This record gives sequence, C-alpha cells and structure tokens, in this order.
Amino acid sequence: MTEPHALTAPSQTLAELTRELNAWVELDLARLEANVVALRRWVGHDVELIAVVKANAYGHGTAIIAPALERFGIDRFAVFSVPEGIQLRELGISRPVLVLGHAYPRQAADAVSHDLTLTVDEPALAQALVAAAQAHGRRPRVHIKVDTGLHRFGLPPHEAVALAEWLRTLPEIEVEGLWTHMANADEADDSFSDEQQARFEETARRLDWIPYRHAANSATAIRRATLRYHGVRTGIGLLGVVPPNTENPGIRPVLALKARLVRIAEVAAGEGVSYGLTWRARRPSRIGLVPIGYGDGWPRSLSNCGEVLVRGQRAPVVGRVCMDQFLVDVTDIPGASSGDEVVLIGEQGKEHIGAEDVARLAGTIPWDIVASLQPRIPRIAHRGCIVEAILGTL
Ligand SMILES: *Cc1c(COP(=O)(O)O)cnc(C)c1O
Repeated sequence: MTEPHALTAPSQTLAELTRELNAWVELDLARLEANVVALRRWVGHDVELIAVVKANAYGHGTAIIAPALERFGIDRFAVFSVPEGIQLRELGISRPVLVLGHAYPRQAADAVSHDLTLTVDEPALAQALVAAAQAHGRRPRVHIKVDTGLHRFGLPPHEAVALAEWLRTLPEIEVEGLWTHMANADEADDSFSDEQQARFEETARRLDWIPYRHAANSATAIRRATLRYHGVRTGIGLLGVVPPNTENPGIRPVLALKARLVRIAEVAAGEGVSYGLTWRARRPSRIGLVPIGYGDGWPRSLSNCGEVLVRGQRAPVVGRVCMDQFLVDVTDIPGASSGDEVVLIGEQGKEHIGAEDVARLAGTIPWDIVASLQPRIPRIAHRGCIVEAILGTL
C-alpha cells in the first residue's frame, strides 16, 4: 500500500465492488466515528483523545483511518516512529503528532520540518533539535517519558527530572508533555498501575511546570479515571476492539476481513489436504479454497484450528494455512459454493468472529491479529455499505 492517499470510488456498494475479489478488508467509517463519540463520552470531554495509529493504524490502513479520525475531531495523534509521523503529515494531518518511540539525532531536522513532537530521551537528540529549530525558525515541542516500571522505553524518574530541567533552559525547545506507560494495563489484575501511578505523580510533582501529562492506553483509559490526566492514548479502542479486561464502553469493531470461496473440491474419505497432509477426510468431504494466507497476515497457527463463516455457519480450517491460501471444510454447509463470501473477522448472519476470537485460537492477542494484516489486502472504507475510499489494488 504505497500510495499515500485513499482513492475515492464512485458510489458503489460493497457487494458490487467485492464480487470478484479474492480477499479484502472492510473499514466501517460510521462505526469509527461512533467509537470516537463513545470513548469521548466515557473518558469525559475535558480529556483529549490521542489516536495511536502506529503500525499502519494497527493494520487497518493509516491512509484511510488517520484522515477519517481527524475529520471526526480527534485531538492528537501518536505513532511509534518519525517516518510514521511524516506519513501522517503527507496525508494532510494537521493535529499534533507525537512520536512514542526512540528517535535518532539524524531525524531531528525531519521531525522539526514536519512539526512532529518527539519523545526526547537523551541530550544529543535535544541538541539536534535545537540546531533544526534554528534552521527552520520553529520552536519544537517535546515530551519526556518516565519509566515507572515497564522498563521498556523512557527514563527512570531522577533521570527524567534532570533531563527535563536541562531542556527547560533551552529557549529553542518547548517541553510540553510528560508521560508514562502501564505494564499491566491489559491484564485482569492491573493493580501494579497503582504503583506506577505513584511513581509518575511523584515525578510530575517535581516537574509541575510541564503542562501536559498522559499515561493511559485504551484499557487504562476505560478502567482508571485517575490515570486519564490531560489525554488518553487510545489505539485498539478507537478501532472498536474491547480490551480483554474491560467492559465495553459502547464501541464496535471497525474492521472486517473477508474473502471469497474460489473453488470447492470433493475429497474422498482417507485423502489428506494441504502441505504435509496434516488433515485427512474421515468421510467424503467438500473442501473450500480461501485465497488468503499467512503472507497476508492470516496466522499460520490457525492450521487445523481456525474457523470462518460461510453462509452464516462456522466452517473449520482444515490442513495447514499456506502463504496465500487455506482450506475449510464446508461439508456441513448446504449449498456452499464457489463465489460465496467468507468472513474471517466480522459478522455474517447471526454469527460473529471477533479479532479476539481469532487471537484466542491463534495463541496471541487481538492487537497482533489486526496489526499483522498486510498491505497486499485491499482496504475498502464504507458507510452503510456505500464505498467511500479504496486503498490498495483491487
Ligand atoms: C500502542 C500504544 C498505546 C495504545 O495502546 P492500545 O491498547 O491500543 O490503546 C498507548 N501507548 C503506548 C506507549 C503504546 O505503545
């Protein structure tokens, strides 16, 4: 998905557009907008929503999701890296963009020219920002991350204070934000957040001149009112996937992953299917071919254990998931035939498969399932099944 902008299609329906597609992602923009409204209501209107759109907006497609979120009034964006931030600016995003991950001094000039807010973790980066600020005649804002117990990125409290106090002396830079990240945000027992909160607030007291504080991801934003501060960094929640340890704040999944059966094979009892012949028919079977595989991000770990929907019924994955395709047993689904829609994530009839269901079967988490979806699957954005934008090649 190299093209930076979503193409706009004429007013076609999803059904018309996808009739002859192997596999595609549908993005429901009405749900995305409703999720913004629901999360805003949940966290309170005095708390900013910072949309985390790293990793291609969790595999959904940044070129569609980010501009839509800006239209829906999101306050800020966050990405992992400087190149991801530049992509947002090239898409026309005008709200503040925070880089959550490490940046190198060599990236300072790009960060300043694209008005990105870096998380500064060392003097060399700050010095490079000062030079870039002078060259561009701008005063970049920076944030400082405090490591309060995750021990991933960020500075221990005393180092964060020392760096912040030094940055404060540099007139070319504005220290805008102080932030941290919870280690057990998504666990059933997130009580360690209490300890992290105490460490964060102790640091914030010593740096009470820094105006903007943030600490919560989606789960923490939903569960813990006292950790919302000035903004909450929400990724999965905006996309409508409920964290495993929270109640549903009124959100619905934006993404559906679909494909079409492209062939039905009659397989005799005793015959095996797919690489390694790891599944064998116990009865004369009808085996459907689904043209999407691990090269698209559909996990290979679903071999012989995944499920999809065909004609509103569950069909088991049989045999190994290959790079581009896999097989499902449709013997018990009367009338299943080539051209039928296959739902891998989403709704069909009365049935529903969520990213969390796929994750459970694949032995991972819903973030991983959606973020793994590759650009080679086209993304189709729609409202009420009328196509609004297409990303990728159909
Ligand atoms: C990815 C990320 C988030 C968003 O987490 P969700 O669970 O998707 O809301 C927030 N903060 C940081 C530092 C992150 O890396």
